[in-house]
Amino acid sequence: MKNYDALADRLIEANKRLNLTAITQKDAVMVLHIEDSLTLCDHIPQGAKVIDVGTGGGFPALPIAMARDDIFVTALDSTAKKLAFVEQTADEFSLPLKTFCARAEEAAEQLRETFDVAVSRGVTALPALCELCLPFVKIGGRFIAMKAKDCEAEISSAKNALSVLGGEIKEVLCPTLSDGTVHTLIIIEKISATPLKYPRRWSEIKKKPL
Ligand code: SAH
Repeated sequence: MKNYDALADRLIEANKRLNLTAITQKDAVMVLHIEDSLTLCDHIPQGAKVIDVGTGGGFPALPIAMARDDIFVTALDSTAKKLAFVEQTADEFSLPLKTFCARAEEAAEQLRETFDVAVSRGVTALPALCELCLPFVKIGGRFIAMKAKDCEAEISSAKNALSVLGGEIKEVLCPTLSDGTVHTLIIIEKISATPLKYPRRWSEIKKKPL
């Protein structure tokens, strides 16, 4: 059932107990969490297996699973208490979504190159984010990074990471949300296998980003 309104209510209610989001006004949740997440939908192929890396309170995973019953979403995060909310919400709305509690760089061994699409919002800067996300993507699949507007410098800083990890920027889009907020979708194609030595441990990724 596509009930984005009820999803927003559920997030706002749970947020009183759990620290899921800084956005607490219903109108803002509808736009900045739900509408923003849905900007991905046009870029996810039919029937895709999708992983949301660092889903937190379920964004973008929950709205895209609500929008698209042809896809299957794995919502990954290292924080169990946030994932419990995501899992209960997915059950309540019968969404095509399962949770996976792990650090991305540790889950990569088990889930390597098994997804058509990886998505991620609000997790880390693009070079490190590519190292966390691209290992999950099959060759020929894509990684879509959700960023704020004006992220050209961040995109340039990821050039080396992209070429080392087997990614290539296909398109950079700037959707405008209904309140006028402009965001960026960086669509990265996986053109070759990610060398097995990536991802490294988080301490190394942080210390020496590619
Ligand atoms: N995507 C959500 C949450 C962003 S907050 C949103 O946009 O609203 C960042 C989330 O990423 C946190 O929940 C944190 O636990 C998770 N995270 C950060 N680094 C991670 C890693 N290496 N592996 C798994 N989860 C990670």
